Amino acid sequence: MNANGGIPFLDLVTPHRELEAELVSVFRAALDTAGFVGGPMVEGFEREFAAFCDAAHCVGVASGTDALRFALIAAGVKPGDTVVTVPNTFIATTEAISQVGARFDFVDVDEHTYTMDPEKLRFYLEAECTRDVGMNRPRSRRTGGPVTAVVPVHLYGQTADMDPILDLASRYNLSVIEDACQAHGAEYFSMKEHRWRKAGSMGQAAAFSFYPGKNLGACGEAGAVTTNDEALAREVRMLRDHGQSRKYHHAVEGYNGRLDAIQAGILRIKLQHLTHWNEQRSWSAKRYDELFAPMAGSVTIPYQPAWSKPVYHLYVIHTANRDELQKYLTEAGIGTGIHYPIPVHLQAAYAELGWKRGDFPVSEDAADQLLSLPMFPGLRAEDQRRVVEAVAEFASVRSTG
Ligand SMILES: *Cc1c(COP(=O)(O)O)cnc(C)c1O
Repeated sequence: MNANGGIPFLDLVTPHRELEAELVSVFRAALDTAGFVGGPMVEGFEREFAAFCDAAHCVGVASGTDALRFALIAAGVKPGDTVVTVPNTFIATTEAISQVGARFDFVDVDEHTYTMDPEKLRFYLEAECTRDVGMNRPRSRRTGGPVTAVVPVHLYGQTADMDPILDLASRYNLSVIEDACQAHGAEYFSMKEHRWRKAGSMGQAAAFSFYPGKNLGACGEAGAVTTNDEALAREVRMLRDHGQSRKYHHAVEGYNGRLDAIQAGILRIKLQHLTHWNEQRSWSAKRYDELFAPMAGSVTIPYQPAWSKPVYHLYVIHTANRDELQKYLTEAGIGTGIHYPIPVHLQAAYAELGWKRGDFPVSEDAADQLLSLPMFPGLRAEDQRRVVEAVAEFASVRSTG
């Protein structure tokens, strides 16, 4: 509950207040050494976050969008290539692809998990692409370009179904770049390898965002690329720093996409709490699941497959009359969110590309019917009960009124 008696969608104030002394000491250390960009705090964070993700390397960058863009370039995606992703995501996923000079194609998401549907990826590669003779590469019928990479998005804190995606990628010679911007610490059970695998360790590379509202958030902008491929990590290190191999030796034209030291220092402190915060999110999710059990006919709770250990970046329900319900909850002082109200293929920015309603029905249904409820570490059980009671009240008002 916040000062007005309302329940916020997200509480970013309390965790920082609790860690205030430690966070301020990071700023002091930066002032004392004037180490503002790069340096030991960045290197320390990179080591610790790589270990957290079970990845061999982590390269800190300025945002999740930079992480996606640098990962794509370093994985060898070239201007004119086509990269496949999903329309049920944040636009940064497709922005990064465009900024590489590549084009994107979409496959729809699965109707239960809302992440990439591997069967639709298979259909796309078999039926919507031709096969380049000799090159062993699919070519998109829509864009005319060679398909060189796939970007599954681990959405709402749950990974995509990676085994079949990785299988298809290896069969069709595609790089896999995970968009792990909402999945710090999420795990996937690989039947193929018979073990749990961490988000950020499965593809050729992965992109993380540390935007303040993510499960691990900076006090500003930050991101990272994780990978097990040393050459790829080296390439991302160059790209983030103007293509420098060493000072003033520019092997390629790069970007200004570095991680600043204060953010890295803050992230190191918060990383120590991430596992516990993720556990708290899971407990809250379980409590919501139980509270919603009597409403199974009208509210669909998040689907958690046996292969998934999600980290509940968001707790997303599927319901009819979503917009009215959201209004009702807002009036009751309960914060909610919609992720996302317009699927990427229908965004005004892409109007010229010619997609229309009906092209990706599961993503369109998600945009119309999904609602994200309050979810953050420290969410109180009694507040969750109030949220669920308000949803139930709305349902009964509607059915009687
Ligand atoms: C947050 C987010 C991004 C972008 O991260 P920024 O740090 O804001 O650039 C990309 N993809 C997804 C799925 C995200 O949620």
